Amino acid sequence: MADTTRLDAELAALEHRGRIAYNDYEAPPRKDWDGLVAAAGAVLKPHQPGRIVVFGPVCKDHEAYPNFSITATEAARVRACPDCTATVYTSCTGCHQSVPLDSCPVRSAISRELAGSKEDGDVPA
Ligand SMILES: [Zn+2]
Ligand SMILES: [Zn+2]
Repeated sequence: MADTTRLDAELAALEHRGRIAYNDYEAPPRKDWDGLVAAAGAVLKPHQPGRIVVFGPVCKDHEAYPNFSITATEAARVRACPDCTATVYTSCTGCHQSVPLDSCPVRSAISRELAGSKEDGDVPA
């Protein structure tokens, strides 16, 4: 069980050291940087592309497809089919199968922070 209080303190300390370093026009210590990259990677690791899920009505031609675990080729057929109105998505291995990878809160949060830091601190609405 991770000590989340200690983790919060470590993050705050990293942020503090980073600010001091930037105020002095220096790069933050390499080990801080490596640690943050590794931490983000570890958080992201369980949240990878999982099973392709077909959710919703499919036409007669495609009704034999299982509700999950179809191949990318089969997924493409359902997507391209004008008679299938099902939503086809790749689920997130770290979340529930009902969560599309695009909507994974962990991946979204990290993407948002990365995008935000590139926009010079602007937080996207
Ligand atoms: Zn179809
Ligand atoms: Zn996820």
